[in-house]
Amino acid sequence: MTTVAAYAAPAAKAPLERTTIERRPVGEHDVLIEIKFAGICHSDIHQAREGWGEAIFPMVPGHEIAGVVAEVGPGVTKFTVGDRVGVGCMVDSCRECDQCRAGLEQYCVKGMTGTYNAVGKDGEPTYGGYSTHIVVDEAYTVRIPEGLALDEAAPLLCAGITTYSPLKHWNAGPGKKVAILGMGGLGHMAVRIAHALGAEVTVLSQSLRKKDDGLKLGADHYYATSDPETFEELRGTFDVILSTVSAPLDLDRFLSLLRADGAFVNVGAPEEPVSLNLFSVIGGRKTLAGSSIGGIRETQEMLDFCAEHGFGAEIELISASEINEAYERVLASDVRYRFVIDVATI
Ligand SMILES: [Zn+2]
Ligand SMILES: [Zn+2]
Repeated sequence: MTTVAAYAAPAAKAPLERTTIERRPVGEHDVLIEIKFAGICHSDIHQAREGWGEAIFPMVPGHEIAGVVAEVGPGVTKFTVGDRVGVGCMVDSCRECDQCRAGLEQYCVKGMTGTYNAVGKDGEPTYGGYSTHIVVDEAYTVRIPEGLALDEAAPLLCAGITTYSPLKHWNAGPGKKVAILGMGGLGHMAVRIAHALGAEVTVLSQSLRKKDDGLKLGADHYYATSDPETFEELRGTFDVILSTVSAPLDLDRFLSLLRADGAFVNVGAPEEPVSLNLFSVIGGRKTLAGSSIGGIRETQEMLDFCAEHGFGAEIELISASEINEAYERVLASDVRYRFVIDVATI
């Protein structure tokens, strides 16, 4: 075991503070990663505050991890010391079920092992990226291409793959009209990726406050959802609406913006159940769907895609002592567009 520095929430809703945690010894197929940067995802806050149900404390959040390999186990074949690598939302899965074999480890029937707030196969709790080092099986580690800066790459490990995977699955591309609902951490990546895939991209945001940014990131159109005219004008328009919003939504209203056979895909998750009039999907044979991150192979594909198109995330780099303040700012949608912790400051 190795003792390393970390930032942890000691209990639900308690502020995060500096502490130390134990990392397991480097096993046969493990890599020891010296973490350089860790993104702050909205789901870190949901979990640290038990918004999504009972959680494990102390909690070291962080599933947008970018760093450098510091040591490899004897059986490691994918990586060597010095490689630039990333770890996203999962660090293990059963590896045997149909989903795992298909490269969809995030949908493992036995449940994937989360990077934090989970229990690993060794029975020990997992701790995330707000920490100087992490030990991860190479099979759940991805390579960060040379063209991407590590700090701007970190948020791709959750925000990037969470939006890339559904956009690919629902065929966002040339000739398709895609709406991105919400212009936060996930939304800004979704705009970049959908544009790079060749789709006609519309941002639907509460206000026009971030319109200039949206257009710069690649959006073709930008509408405010606070304006009732938007719903009149865009009725029946979109092939796909990707919702990155984690606040409750009037789903019936948004489903009316889909064309026939269109899909409304949720990647944001409100803390409370939502209601829906089923006529909203019956008329127009519409799909109401969800999507969770992406598999390891697809995560690598996404990183290569972003490097090829020359973009990472738009970030605000912070020191570890600013984490609690950053949480408040995320909740107030006051970040453009992802906080990234400089792990050297832990
Ligand atoms: Zn996340
Ligand atoms: Zn499985």
